[in-house]
Amino acid sequence: MQRRYFFAGGLAGLSAYHFKAYWPDNNSFFNDCRQLPDELAKHEIVLSAFEGLDTSQIWDGHVHLLGLGDSNSGIWINPRSLSLLNIRHYIRFRFFLNASCPLPNMSVDEGYVARLKSLHWAHRFVLLAFDYSYNEQGKPLPDKTAFYVPNRYAAQVHKQSPDTFEWLASIHPYRKDCVEALEKALLNGARGVKWLPPAMGMNPASPLCDRFYKAMASWDIPLLCHCGDEHAVSGTNTQTYGNPLALRRALDQGVKVVIAHCGSLGSNRDTDKSPNGAHVSNFELFARLMDEERYNGLLFADISALTQINRVGTILDTVITRSDWHPRLLYASDYPLPGVVPLTSLRLLHEKQYITAEQLEVLAQLRHYNSLLFDFVLKRLIRVQGQGFATSIFQTRSLWLLPT
Ligand SMILES: [Zn+2]
Repeated sequence: MQRRYFFAGGLAGLSAYHFKAYWPDNNSFFNDCRQLPDELAKHEIVLSAFEGLDTSQIWDGHVHLLGLGDSNSGIWINPRSLSLLNIRHYIRFRFFLNASCPLPNMSVDEGYVARLKSLHWAHRFVLLAFDYSYNEQGKPLPDKTAFYVPNRYAAQVHKQSPDTFEWLASIHPYRKDCVEALEKALLNGARGVKWLPPAMGMNPASPLCDRFYKAMASWDIPLLCHCGDEHAVSGTNTQTYGNPLALRRALDQGVKVVIAHCGSLGSNRDTDKSPNGAHVSNFELFARLMDEERYNGLLFADISALTQINRVGTILDTVITRSDWHPRLLYASDYPLPGVVPLTSLRLLHEKQYITAEQLEVLAQLRHYNSLLFDFVLKRLIRVQGQGFATSIFQTRSLWLLPT
């Protein structure tokens, strides 16, 4: 099958400003998909990113497990994502595939995992399964599901390469068997649970989640939860479920929560004031939760996606300069997104003095060979008024170790 895709149609709707901002730094929309040359791997700028770090503690806690379902993985893709008739879904899907450079001469499922293995640089990559959307009666909704990646498959990939991959289960809390599914996932080595509420159709503030929260809290299982607007994955498309305040219900029951990319996009009603409270940015609502003393030790956040164009500025600056948050932040990549070339503009990061010209040059090469290492090096180098992400943010392993 064809492995590279052009997406000119997807740019047609952009304004001139956005067109310039999203134009890739080296005029190439494509990943190179080759192995990293030795001289680049050993470049002093790349090596400097590892200084002061214990690499055995670096777990990338947000790596999507994708594929086409062309093996016995059990992956299912909503036909909408593959249909040229729906150009938005189609372009998005093709982009993700290009970003992940699946290796040739095998199924896309196997090629995706093989490519990931070839990019292995951290101690572990934590792979994410992806459940179906469900309605409140506990019935699966395939039509409102973008794709499905079974827990069974994520566990199998982990078991085949335990020195490379860990995994998080995806379990919809409206499922009748949600607690049994959680127990089964834990027995199969899951390190936590992953939700994407705006796409998967669960409202974290619903009492329907309580049974699941109770089990999570009693077993001390972390919940990685996307907050803020979700545009990368379609599905139920209920952005109100991405309200960070909805997670109070989990936190108040003692569930350890990791909010993905600091809940950084879009806005939601300030439900602390009233159900119809004014719209406030999700990032401000996230910040409010982080600043509540009672959630210390329970609420964490990952820094995936924060270097993307749409977070550069106030959001990125705040997360870097709020060093009091740093002990509760976790390095993560949101792979394959760092491989989607136009999403991260090194030129913009240089213009705004987050990185130097020399760093830009090395990073621009690195991204085309190993998007995961690129994401890590960029986040290690980036500075705001001389301040960067604390070293502790990258030593993530301990959060994902479950009590024995
Ligand atoms: Zn993600």
